[in-house]
Amino acid sequence: MPEKVIVVGGGLAGLSAAARLAHNNYDVTLLEKAPKLGGRAISIPMKGFNFNFGAHAIYARDKSILRKFESEIHLKVDWKDFSPSKAFYDLGSYTTPMPATLEGLYRTKILDSQNKLRFAYEVFKTMAAIERGEDGVPIGEYLEKEPEQVRDLLLTVASSNFFTNEAEKIPSPLFFQYYKRLFSTHRAVSYIGGGWQAIVDAFAEIIEKNGGSIVTKEKVTKVELDGKRITAVHGKEQVYQGDHYIFCIPPKELFSLFSDTPQQKYFEEYARYVPTQVVVYDVGLSERIRSPFTYVYQKAQRVFITDISYYDTTCVPEGGQLMQAVAYLNEEEIASGKADEKVALIESVYDKHFPGWRERLVAKRVSKRATVQEIKCIDDQRLMPVKFYSLSNAYFAGDWCKGEGQLSELSFSSAYEVTSRIMKHPVEE
Ligand SMILES: Cc1cc2nc3c(=O)[nH]c(=O)nc-3n(C[C@H](O)[C@H](O)[C@H](O)COP(=O)(O)OP(=O)(O)OC[C@H]3O[C@@H](n4cnc5c(N)ncnc54)[C@H](O)[C@@H]3O)c2cc1C
Repeated sequence: MPEKVIVVGGGLAGLSAAARLAHNNYDVTLLEKAPKLGGRAISIPMKGFNFNFGAHAIYARDKSILRKFESEIHLKVDWKDFSPSKAFYDLGSYTTPMPATLEGLYRTKILDSQNKLRFAYEVFKTMAAIERGEDGVPIGEYLEKEPEQVRDLLLTVASSNFFTNEAEKIPSPLFFQYYKRLFSTHRAVSYIGGGWQAIVDAFAEIIEKNGGSIVTKEKVTKVELDGKRITAVHGKEQVYQGDHYIFCIPPKELFSLFSDTPQQKYFEEYARYVPTQVVVYDVGLSERIRSPFTYVYQKAQRVFITDISYYDTTCVPEGGQLMQAVAYLNEEEIASGKADEKVALIESVYDKHFPGWRERLVAKRVSKRATVQEIKCIDDQRLMPVKFYSLSNAYFAGDWCKGEGQLSELSFSSAYEVTSRIMKHPVEE
């Protein structure tokens, strides 16, 4: 008899974990509370446009854990590589190429020639692990030894990779670990043809093709325990039993799910941490606007715009254009309700770089508090372990769990880790 696995949560972590185990002959049941799969990677069709929640950019594609899913379980991914020559920084009175490649570094005006060399040297030291950071020292403080221009550029780059307004608060060891991996990749950023929906559908297909079941509109509300072992989880009306349980739901949900159990206290710390939240403003246009940019980052206000449809034509009706603007928020801005101001600010950035967008506007979508990552990697906030000693057959995955990279890469890599552990430890007869 195949071992039975219950996966709770149908976001990218739950789907990738369930697909890998189904492919490896486990009897998998995935339970998702929403009517649709995808979690934060959901796609919303509107007036012929397909609005993704998130730009579906995958960083360090050639090192991405998605490559393992491609080769091991035949996940189909239509990679669309980012065009660095069309990526610019807006520095107020002028725009300049983003130094995402050697050519970009040569052409950019964000650094003078002396600092270009210094920046290149910093990249080399990061790749060679000469720079590793220091526990307890945030990157802003660690980089104080660098010339102002170099420090500023490194923090600007980190702002976009970590989706944060507070890049200086990123722990320095995490910063260097992240960039060691990113700087040594040949493809720093790629998008996915068909958007997140294509990945969601591909995982769901693998699960079902291998006999797994997917139950939507099934919120798990209770766990049953026998000492350290989970014996069942409860849905609306049904009870699900398995040999292993993978919880791919955020810490706040775990905290309430494990209420009435002695293990609840283990989730408390993670449920208290602040997430990375942003304002997202997507616009669907009837006709493309000619522009030299497919990506522009307005440095002063920390707003970036990506022309999603330049990479993925499946998200627009013929001839249309879909752009996504993201504005970062820090805790203070969230607390003082600055999201509305950010919406107006984003519109002014669209006006500046894509004049004529208002006349061509067909559909738009604004989210004032979109959660990009459940636990923001700043200060002493720590990501959750994928396994606790006091829960012997329970595993955890999601972008709040320990793993590689940031954002969805954490979801995929934690899912990969827990499924490897399950496969390594077969249940005894
Ligand atoms: C605006 C925006 C931009 C982004 N851009 C990028 C990007 O460019 N690149 C990138 O890599 N990542 C990006 N991300 C992040 C990426 O979307 C997330 O990291 C990823 O989708 C998280 O997946 P997850 O499975 O870990 O969590 P979630 O998506 O949160 O999945 C959790 C799932 O569990 C379900 N659930 C919760 N409680 C229960 C319960 N009790 N019972 C059953 N089901 C339950 C939820 O409904 C949900 O489906 C972006 C996110 C946003 C919002």
